[in-house]
Amino acid sequence: MLPPVARRFVAGESAATVLEHTRQMNDGGVGVICNLLGEHYHDRAAADRDTGAYERLLADIGASDLRACVSVKPSQLGLYVDESVFRANLARVVEAGADHGVFVWIDMEDHTTTDATVDAFEYHASEAGEKRGTVATGVGVCLQANRKRTPDDIERLADCPGKVRLVKGAYDPPPDVAYTGKSRVDEAYRDCLCQLFETFSGGIAVGSHDPEMIALAADLHNEYDTPYEIQMLMGVRENAQVDLAGVCDVWQYAPYGSSWPAYFWRRVLERRENALFALRAIAKGKG
Ligand code: FAD
Repeated sequence: MLPPVARRFVAGESAATVLEHTRQMNDGGVGVICNLLGEHYHDRAAADRDTGAYERLLADIGASDLRACVSVKPSQLGLYVDESVFRANLARVVEAGADHGVFVWIDMEDHTTTDATVDAFEYHASEAGEKRGTVATGVGVCLQANRKRTPDDIERLADCPGKVRLVKGAYDPPPDVAYTGKSRVDEAYRDCLCQLFETFSGGIAVGSHDPEMIALAADLHNEYDTPYEIQMLMGVRENAQVDLAGVCDVWQYAPYGSSWPAYFWRRVLERRENALFALRAIAKGKG
């Protein structure tokens, strides 16, 4: 069972709980990106099981009046089993998204998965764009600003009718493929964001809690008039999420599912304030 302390970062264990959380966030003007926790599967049955869960979630979202979409991880859909398994399962999820009018994001994982992820996104964004004649429901991919290849990926995807979420990047990639150090990564993020606004028309998501990057996106939007949205994680700067929703499109990435412990501890350990929050909650007996 999900302990109260974990509820700051995780919506719940079932699809029903993430949909209930979505309803509450929608009331504050914030859309929700639902993410079923699960990754690094080496077993096809697990990948197929989560694919089926996403198909059911997409049908539930489509049948509701909720402002919600989903975000999937390639290694959750079977990339470590075989690229063909990932492609087949992603096709099922994208097709279900198209059938039910719900947007599908593809997260970006470690650097060994980037080619397969970008290739699959490019394929489905073009397919979805061609079939639907619109990207209003479609697919998006996450790109990591800390990766040295990302400006080339942005250039490659410039005419692709899908969305791009730009994040600073997790997973600690090796220095031959990535920038390290906060200021260098921030500089890369600013450069990639400018490049996206200058060249990309499909829709830009600023996946960051950083007030500086959010302000830069607003300035770039005023300059280029390209549509954009802000995306932040559940439990992080939630007041800012609601405040920003008054002036631009804001989406919250809300994980759910029984595999919550690893995700919860990652959030707690990445920032001193989060660790203190968890310790205080446990000390007050709310753990
Ligand atoms: P940071 O450099 O961590 O923080 C910058 C500033 O933001 C801080 O100085 C502070 O002012 C503010 N801030 C940050 N956190 C807090 C907090 N807890 N409380 C108060 N203020 C805070 N990474 C991937 O590699 N692949 C993905 O697919 C992916 N998807 C993501 C989806 C979303 C919606 C988001 C928000 C992030 C995602 N990430 C992903 C993670 C991302 O790569 C970063 O590791 C993470 O977002 C931290 O970077 P940041 O831009 O928020 O800035």
